[in-house]
Amino acid sequence: METHLDLLDLEADWTDEHKDIILSVRRYVDTEVMPLMRNHQRAGTFPQEILPGLAKLGLLDAIATSSLDPTAYGLAMRELERAGSTIRSFASVQGSLVMGAIELLGSDAQKEEWLPPLGSLEAIGCFGLTEPDFGSNPSGMRTRAEKTSKGFRINGQKCWITNGTTAKVAVIWAKLEGKVNGFLVPTSVAGFEAREIKDKWSFRTSDTAELFLQDVEIPDSAKLPKATSLGSALKCLNQARYGIAWGVVGAAMACFEETRRYLIERPQFKDQPLASHQLIQNKLAWMATEITGMQLVSKRLGELKTRGRLQPQQVSLGKMNNCRKALEVARTCRDLLGAAGIHHEYHVGRHLTDLETVLTYEGTEHIHSLILGEHLTGIPAYC
Ligand SMILES: Cc1cc2nc3c(=O)[nH]c(=O)nc-3n(C[C@H](O)[C@H](O)[C@H](O)COP(=O)(O)OP(=O)(O)OC[C@H]3O[C@@H](n4cnc5c(N)ncnc54)[C@H](O)[C@@H]3O)c2cc1C
Repeated sequence: METHLDLLDLEADWTDEHKDIILSVRRYVDTEVMPLMRNHQRAGTFPQEILPGLAKLGLLDAIATSSLDPTAYGLAMRELERAGSTIRSFASVQGSLVMGAIELLGSDAQKEEWLPPLGSLEAIGCFGLTEPDFGSNPSGMRTRAEKTSKGFRINGQKCWITNGTTAKVAVIWAKLEGKVNGFLVPTSVAGFEAREIKDKWSFRTSDTAELFLQDVEIPDSAKLPKATSLGSALKCLNQARYGIAWGVVGAAMACFEETRRYLIERPQFKDQPLASHQLIQNKLAWMATEITGMQLVSKRLGELKTRGRLQPQQVSLGKMNNCRKALEVARTCRDLLGAAGIHHEYHVGRHLTDLETVLTYEGTEHIHSLILGEHLTGIPAYC
């Protein structure tokens, strides 16, 4: 394991389970994921070939049932995001948002039907909360469910939905008698359509879709019995946001390591390596310090979660701080790579553009600062 980024000797605190998870996910990322990323980035496609290996890691069941300790889960997200934010996002949506929602809010029959195929990746899931006119404020959603004699009829539209075109089941949030409820909608049902969102310059290696639901009829058994308010959706999001705080550390580490290698190898001015220049070392020192800070924040969130004391505003702090810092690190690395930094040969540019999405989704920087602002002042300032 590389140690130059472990400035505060955090690796020494990891348990054997943590070390095993770091090694197994890293091995998977290095051998099965990284070799595919350049071509998929160019093509704008999600690397479906990585799914058997991901299923074999057995992470998704463990995430959904919370059988991994929170730090092990975080480290797994960190290692996956070394490959790219889109890869970690796939696992977050499948494990935390879809399987997590079924585990937390579903009936025994729903768990029996959906968790095994979702865990083995025979079925992919998506989580439909955002709408074209309601992103940061999902409580305004227009998607409606109405009771029928056989179950429910759903009408509405969802936007920016990860895994949307490949999903076999969609967790759809819709208002029933004015209150947000959650439904498990098989995507093969009549009236359901997913359209790929094309022309993205960020998250090119992710399946992002718009979902259209027109008179979609589902049985009573498709309603998530415990998903009866927006708070239920936010519970699932909180787990995923915790994973993001850890994940982006991996993206920042990957950028740093690729750049550090380049700077040591590339001579410039009197045949000296770029890494020998003071201004360059200043930037490396700044990035290593920020990454160490991000790691400390994630580690502390993990400790609080393990003790059952993690609060939403603490998750907001981690998501907001770590995304911002990861983006700054990626941008600095892009600069230090010079012209090479704009080329697909290096992964920094892909990390940089993908981190723009991570800054926005699952609560934008403003929204997380408003959550913290409310905690600090007691005054909600959303409207
Ligand atoms: C690639 C990608 C994948 C995604 N995957 C999913 C998914 O799987 N499921 C899902 O449901 N959603 C998903 N999203 C949607 C994402 O969660 C939303 O884009 C996000 O919540 C922001 O909503 P918005 O885009 O409508 O921006 P808006 O809410 O319109 O915000 C635009 C700007 O205004 C700011 N703003 C908004 N309200 C306030 C306020 N009160 N005060 C100050 N500033 C404010 C925001 O911070 C932002 O800077 C995804 C998005 C992307 C880009």
